[in-house]
Amino acid sequence: MTKKQVSLKLEKVTKIFYDKKYNTKVIAVNNSSFEIKPGELVTLLGPSGCGKTTTLRMVAGFELPTNGKIYIGNEDITFLPPNKRDTATVFQSYGLFPHMTVFDNVAYGLKLKKMNKEEIKKKVIDTLEMVGLKELANRAPSKLSGGQQQRVALARSIIVEPSILLLDEPLSNLDALLREQMRIEIRKIQKKLGITAIYVTHDRVEAMSLSDKIIVMKEGKIIQIGTPNEIYENPNSKFVAGFVGKVAFFEVKIENIEREKCIVKFKNKILEIPKYEKNVSVGEKAILMARPESLILKDNDGLIKGRVKINVYLGNTVESFIDTEFGEIMVQIDNPSMKKIYSEGSSTSIDIVPELCKVLKN
Ligand code: ATP
Repeated sequence: MTKKQVSLKLEKVTKIFYDKKYNTKVIAVNNSSFEIKPGELVTLLGPSGCGKTTTLRMVAGFELPTNGKIYIGNEDITFLPPNKRDTATVFQSYGLFPHMTVFDNVAYGLKLKKMNKEEIKKKVIDTLEMVGLKELANRAPSKLSGGQQQRVALARSIIVEPSILLLDEPLSNLDALLREQMRIEIRKIQKKLGITAIYVTHDRVEAMSLSDKIIVMKEGKIIQIGTPNEIYENPNSKFVAGFVGKVAFFEVKIENIEREKCIVKFKNKILEIPKYEKNVSVGEKAILMARPESLILKDNDGLIKGRVKINVYLGNTVESFIDTEFGEIMVQIDNPSMKKIYSEGSSTSIDIVPELCKVLKN
């Protein structure tokens, strides 16, 4: 893309919806600030109703903030109408024109720009090629599969070369396999074009696999911003830890914090945990977060005794579900052909790898 890449910035943005009839208000977005660097794809991730779509709609101009500012590059676009902002949105529902062919759907934005016919034709064909739909240019949208329709929607958005591409749960109507293929394609196209993008989803796997950064939201507030790796390995709270991946939580007592390690007591054993949130204090109860890959199975001298309930074989890993005094705990066994797999019903024990765990505020 020849176009200059831009950044996007939200500064203390709040959106309150008032319902005069019932005299109620909803704080959909609460004092949100973040910056997306030029060419980055950032995902808004969080449970239903946490304010993801409202945030996206304010960037697109479909909603106006109650407070705060939005910038594309250095330009304050907070109150610009949608057609005056250099953004394009791909919706979950595709939003294609049913009476137009694929070609005309994709050409639509360029026709509005009054580009000449030959140029339009070339660009549409190039763009359809990019999304793998060149052969279907003359079809009606109703004669396409869901995945193909979503590609048309994507082509229609990127052809106008927006500075900011906004994707609102674009894959949620597709089946699992297609979703996986499409998310890789979206990522490739976004990188190739170098478009700054916001992607809204409540699917953690989608967020993890697509994003340069993830913004985790809850009840209108941003809880954490980080790379997928940071968010997974170094979540700042129980909420983020649980939302972005499988995890076990154990209650521990903090004995000391020394030499950059948090010394905790768990089942009368002392564990030295290198990763801990700075808001925890000595003497308090806290939460030890353990991902399935930070737990290992042993014959009987591990910290937590248990019995194998079920083993789930997933090719290169086995998920072993163990009944314990702390409830059911899943232990992930990578490269299972090289490890001992405890058979279902047999007794075993779980050990914790301190280096892979984190201490979080209770
Ligand atoms: P989902 O994943 O279900 O789409 P979301 O995280 O995108 O959810 P939003 O759609 O942004 O959440 O909604 C945030 C909150 O604002 C919700 O409580 C919602 O009911 C409320 N809300 C959104 N739009 C409006 C509106 N136009 N009028 C009143 N309340 C609204």
